[in-house]
Amino acid sequence: MSKQTAIGSLGRTQEILKKYGIRAKKSYGQNFLTDVNVLKKIVAAADINRDDNVIEIGPGIGALTEQLALAAGQVLALEIDQSLLPVLDDVLAPYDNVTVVNQDVLKADLPSLIKQHFSDLQKPVKVVANLPYYITSPILMGLLASPVSFDCICVMMQKEVAERLAAKPGTKQYGALTLAIQYHGQAQLAFGVSRHSFVPAPNVDSAIVTISPRKAPLARLPFSQQALFKVIRGCFAHRRKSLRNNLKRFVGKDATVLSKSVAVLDQLGIDPQLRPEKLTLLQFIDLTNGLHEAHLIS
Ligand code: SAM
Repeated sequence: MSKQTAIGSLGRTQEILKKYGIRAKKSYGQNFLTDVNVLKKIVAAADINRDDNVIEIGPGIGALTEQLALAAGQVLALEIDQSLLPVLDDVLAPYDNVTVVNQDVLKADLPSLIKQHFSDLQKPVKVVANLPYYITSPILMGLLASPVSFDCICVMMQKEVAERLAAKPGTKQYGALTLAIQYHGQAQLAFGVSRHSFVPAPNVDSAIVTISPRKAPLARLPFSQQALFKVIRGCFAHRRKSLRNNLKRFVGKDATVLSKSVAVLDQLGIDPQLRPEKLTLLQFIDLTNGLHEAHLIS
C-alpha cells in the first residue's frame, strides 16, 4: 500500500498490524480507530492549527497522531505500551513535528514533559486522545487537577461516560462525575462514533467530548474542595433516595444532627425531599459550606 494512505484507513491499519505482528492488548484498552473521517472530525472538534502544541494520550499505531501532525505545530504523544514505540517510530517517520515518549499518563510529569519537548511554550496546549476506556475518569481528573492550564481537552470515550460528563441537572446521567468535571470546566458532547469504526470493535459505542477548562473562577467556592467532593459523593450514594435520607447516612442519624442538616437545606431554600440529581454545582457548594458552618462536617 502506498505511503500516502492514512494510517487510520482500514487497509493501512491491517497492513501495519500484520507487518509488525501487533495484537491489540485488552489490558491497555487498545482499540484502533479505522475511520479517517472520524479522525479528521476529532482534529476539527479540537480546532487544531499550527499555533497549537498538542499532547496525545495513547497514540497506538499512530492513526490520530498522524492527523494531529498534519494540523498542529508540535505533537507530543505518551504511549504506555513499549512494544508500539518502534512501530510509531517507523510509521510517523515522515512527520518531524511529532515526539513519542514511553510514558504512563497517570504517572507522567506533564509540566516537565511540556518544557522538555515543546519549543514554543507560549502556544496553547491542547489534549487530544482516543482514551484507553478503562482509565477514562482518572485520566480526566488528573488532567483537570494538573498545574498545566490546557486550552482544550478533546477526547473520545465510552458513549455512556460521555453522556454523564455532559449531563444536565435532573437527568439520570447527572452525577458525581458530571459535577467533578463542571467544577474544573465545561464539557460538551461533540459527536458519537460507532463501535464498528475500531479494530478490534469494542463492545460499546463511543463519543467525543470537548472540555474547556474554566478560565474564570466559579461564582462561589467551597471551604475545601475535598469536602465538596465528599458531600457530593455522600449525597449521590443512593441516587434514588432524597437528600434528607442521603444526608442521614452521610452526616449522621442522630436526631439533633439530622435536624441541623435539614435546617441547613431549609436555609438554602433546598427541599430536603429532592433527589440529589436536582442540585446544581453551586447548590452543592452552598450545602458544603452550610454543613461546615453548622459544624456537621470538617
Ligand atoms: N490513538 C489510537 C487510535 O485512536 O487508534 C489508539 C487508541 S487506544 C483506544 C488507547 C491507547 O492508549 C493504546 O495505544 C494504549 O496502549 C494506550 N494506553 C493505555 N493506557 C495508557 C496509559 N496509562 N498511558 C499512556 N497510554 C496508555
